Amino acid sequence: EAKNETMVNYCFFNGELATRLKTRMSIEKNLVKGLENNEFIINYQPKVSAATSEVVGMEALIRWRDSDQKIISPADFIPIAEETGFIIELGEWILFEACKTNKQWQDKGLSHVPVSVNVSALQFMHPHFTQTVQKVLADTGLAANYLELEVTESILINQTIIVEKLHELKSIGVLISIDDFGTGYSSINYLKNFPIDTLKIDRAFVMDTPSSERDNALLLSIIQLGKSLGLSVLAEGVELEEQVHFLSNGGCDYIQGFYFSRPLDEKTMEEQLK
Ligand code: C2E
Ligand code: MG
Ligand code: MG
Ligand code: MG
Repeated sequence: EAKNETMVNYCFFNGELATRLKTRMSIEKNLVKGLENNEFIINYQPKVSAATSEVVGMEALIRWRDSDQKIISPADFIPIAEETGFIIELGEWILFEACKTNKQWQDKGLSHVPVSVNVSALQFMHPHFTQTVQKVLADTGLAANYLELEVTESILINQTIIVEKLHELKSIGVLISIDDFGTGYSSINYLKNFPIDTLKIDRAFVMDTPSSERDNALLLSIIQLGKSLGLSVLAEGVELEEQVHFLSNGGCDYIQGFYFSRPLDEKTMEEQLK
């Protein structure tokens, strides 16, 4: 035990960790200011049909352009926003902006596909989450079937409250997908009871296909699992043409990834839709 403590103290004063701690503290302080100063940007990444390449949806992905104009990745600030609780406010802003933009594109005749919004566990667990979703839809005028919520397996610990909440959200009419499918710690048992529309297979299962036979077998069985449960299946992180063929032949419905398009800023996405 004593040895571990020494290790912790040593690490604490180690320069690299001190720098990381400083970065973290500055992120935490600046997040709140960032939202006030309009420093958050939403990018959109298309989701396409594996068979036809037709755009079937778009995922909203947040970025932060801080006061030095430096772009900060969500991987660096979402976990901090979750720890401080700021994700509730930020998440509501993202939801509103994504719905508003999708509605504007629909009104301009540019888009007839849903927007997907990532929802963090804390946000999902908030007692007013369903009401927030309803209010955002009412305020933006977006029809519920044009909003998809992406949740990760981390929320799906088998609790009745989660099932109820998912049913509540489904009764509004929104779509629900499981993000990063296959990487969580929960049992796939939840697939039996939870009202879900789409499995988003994590990039980890795609990246070594089609060159690795083992990965090919694994990916195909995940696709079959989803399909046999009547779910739509999307593969994330598709970067190669050969992966598109493999997925399309394997019965995967949708793909998303750099091969088709990187996440685009709002203006570029609008141009693409035209
Ligand atoms: P995610 O929801 O699983 O999003 C997929 C991530 O993979 C995105 O990274 C996307 O840019 C990236 N990606 C897409 N296609 C490819 C590809 O072909 N190859 C590779 N290497 N990467 C690809 P991003 O935008 O940095 O987001 C990272 C994570 O941050 C997201 O993972 C999500 O968990 C979280 N995040 C992003 N935006 C939001 C948000 O608005 N709210 C919340 N709560 N979380 C968000
Ligand atoms: Mg996602
Ligand atoms: Mg994902
Ligand atoms: Mg992810």
